[in-house]
Amino acid sequence: EGVWRLSRLGVCVHEDPGKDFWGVSEALLKEIARVLEFPVASMLPPEAFTVVRKSFDARKLQKEPKFVYTVDMDVRKLLSLEPRTWEFISELDQKAGFIEFLHHDSISGDLMSTIRNHRKIDDTASVREEVHSNHVIRGYKFPATRRPKVVVVGSGPSGLFASLVLAEVGAEVTLIERGQAVEQRGRDIGALVVRRILQLESNFCFGEGGAGTWSDGKLVTRIGRNNSSVLTVMKTLVHFGAPCSILVDGKPHLGTDRLVPLLRNFRGYLQELGVTIRFGTRVDDLLVKGEHIVGVKISDSRDLSDACCQKLGCDAVVLAVGHSARDTYHMLLSHNVDVVRKDFAVGLRIEHPQELINNIQYSGLASEVQSGRGKVPVADYQVAEYVNLRDADTLSNSDLTSRSCYSFCMCPGGQVVLTSTDPSELCINGMSFSRRSSRWANAALVVTVSSKDFDALNLSGPLAGVEFQRTFERKAALMGGGNFVVPVQTATDFLENRLSVTSVPPSSYRLGVKAANLHKLFPVRVTEALQHAVSMFDKELPGFVSNNALLHGVETRTSSPVHITRRSDTWESTNLKGLYPIGEGAGYAGGIVSAAVDGMHAGFAIARNLGLYDGSI
Ligand code: FAD
Repeated sequence: EGVWRLSRLGVCVHEDPGKDFWGVSEALLKEIARVLEFPVASMLPPEAFTVVRKSFDARKLQKEPKFVYTVDMDVRKLLSLEPRTWEFISELDQKAGFIEFLHHDSISGDLMSTIRNHRKIDDTASVREEVHSNHVIRGYKFPATRRPKVVVVGSGPSGLFASLVLAEVGAEVTLIERGQAVEQRGRDIGALVVRRILQLESNFCFGEGGAGTWSDGKLVTRIGRNNSSVLTVMKTLVHFGAPCSILVDGKPHLGTDRLVPLLRNFRGYLQELGVTIRFGTRVDDLLVKGEHIVGVKISDSRDLSDACCQKLGCDAVVLAVGHSARDTYHMLLSHNVDVVRKDFAVGLRIEHPQELINNIQYSGLASEVQSGRGKVPVADYQVAEYVNLRDADTLSNSDLTSRSCYSFCMCPGGQVVLTSTDPSELCINGMSFSRRSSRWANAALVVTVSSKDFDALNLSGPLAGVEFQRTFERKAALMGGGNFVVPVQTATDFLENRLSVTSVPPSSYRLGVKAANLHKLFPVRVTEALQHAVSMFDKELPGFVSNNALLHGVETRTSSPVHITRRSDTWESTNLKGLYPIGEGAGYAGGIVSAAVDGMHAGFAIARNLGLYDGSI
C-alpha cells in the first residue's frame, strides 16, 4: 500500500537526538539517504518517514554502539519531491525493484503516473489508516432493550481490556477486584515495605491494575511487536497517558510511577462508559444452573465473616484472576470446571550492582549511562541455556532431564520486591520506576519444572503445580527466619555449594536478607540445573558470577501453574458455558501486554457470543 519498511538503520550515539526523541532527525535522514543511495539527504521530506522502532545495540561485534532504527517510508508522500529526484527514484526502482508494490501491480514506465494510478485506491487506504490510528478500540453501541450483563473478575491487564471492549460494544459490565484502587493500594504497599504489614487482599499481586502495577512495567512481548493487536494495546496505553515513545522503543518500559496515573485514567474512562467498578470485593463462588453460569457470589474482601455475601446475576463471567488467586482455583475445582496442571518455571532472583552490568555490556560506554538520564539506556541482559542433566535420584544416563534455564523479567535500575500473598510464604519479583535509576539490576534465573518434578514430591491433581510453588515459598520463608526476610547467597558460593560469606553484600530488598545455603531450597535436580546455567551465563557475560552477585530465594510465580481450558471457537470454559477464563491465571498469557491482548480478544469473542458484535476477532 505504498509503504516501504527500512530496517537496521544505525545512528551513532553522539548523533542521536536523545532517548525521548522519536521523530526523524537529521542524522537518521542521512542514514536513510545512505541506504536508499539517494544523493542529497536534506531533499528527503521528513514527513514521508515514520519511526516504528528504536533500540540500542551495544554488541561487542560492532565498532561503535549505535541506536538501530526501523522506519516506514510512505512512497506517496515522496510525491512532493521535484521531478528530477523522481527520475532518480525511478531508476533505482528499475535497478533494484525498490518500489515493490508497483511491480506487484505489473505497472511499469513513468513513475509519476503509476503512482497516480495507484492513488486510486487511496480512499480505501485512508479509511484503513483512520481505523488503525484510532487510539481506543471502537465498537458499536448496543441498541437493544436489555443489555447483556457481564461480570469481569480481576482488574489486571486482561480484565481491564476485556472490560473496555465489552463496555464499548454496549454490555453492562461490572468489574470486581478483590484488591484496592491504586491510591489505597499504594498506601498498603507502603505499609508492607516500611512496617512489614501484609494486607492479604491488597499487595504486589492484588489490586487495581493487577500484578503489573507495582512492577517493572516492561512492555516487551513474545507475541510480536508488529502484531496489530499489540499495537492496539500500545496505542490504548498511550491514550491513557503512556508516553508515545512506547510505540517506537525496541524495549518499551513504563515503570510504576507512570502506570499508576495511567490506571486512574483507564478507570475514569471505564466509569464514563458506565462500567461499575467494585474494589475490595472478592468473587468467592460461581452460581451455576445446569451447564451454564448464571452469576457469582461476592463478598467484601476485608471482611472475613460470611455476613456480607451477595449474589450477582449475569449472562457471562470473565475470569481474569491472575496466577496468585489460589483460592479461586480451588473454588473452580469444586464446580468441576476443567483445570489442568501445566509446566512453569521456578528459581532465584539474582541482583548485581547496575554499574557492573553496564560495564559487562557496554565496556567503554558504561560511563555514559547517567542513571537513566543520558542517551544510553541502563544496560540489561537476557540469557538462556538448555541443560541436560542426569536424574539425581536414579543417576542413570538413560534418565537425562532436559531443562530450559533462562533469565526472566530483568529489571535494570530496579529493586527486588515481596510478592507473597500469605505471610507464611515468601516469594519475590522485581519492579522499577520509569527512570530506572536505582543502583541495582535484578533478574529471575529460572528453570522449567513439569509433572515429573511434582510427582517426585508426591504432589498430585490439577493443582500439583500450585502445591509445588507453595512448598518452596514456605521453605524460603523458614530459611529467611520469618518477617519476610529473604534468604540469599552470593553467586560464587552458590556455584561452589558453600556458605563462606556470612556478611552478605547489600541488597535492594527493603525487608532484609539473611545468608543461607540456597542448595537446601529446591530439589537437587532443579538446583543442579540452576548451578550449571549460572556458570554458562558467566561465560556469556564475564563477571556475571561474583561475590557482588547476590541470589535471592525464591522466584516461583513466573507463570500460571494451571491451564483453565477454554474452547477455541467460543472462548468459553470447555465445560461451563458462560465462563470465560482469560489472561495469565488461566494460562493464556505471560506478561502485561500479552494479558491485555488476550483480554481484548476475549472481549470481542464474548461480544460476538452475546450478539453485540459481528466482526472478526
Ligand atoms: P493479574 O495482573 O494478576 O490480575 C489479576 C487480578 O485479579 C488481580 O488484581 C487480583 O487481585 C484479582 N483477583 C484475583 N482473584 C480474584 C477474585 N476471586 N475476586 C476478585 N478479584 C480477584 N509483566 C510484564 O510484562 N512486564 C513487567 O515488567 C512485569 N513485571 C512484574 C513485576 C512484578 C512484581 C509482578 C508480580 C509481575 C510482573 N509482570 C510483568 C507480570 C505481569 O504483571 C502479569 O503477567 C500480568 O499482570 C498478568 O495479567 P492478568 O490480567 O492476567 O492478571
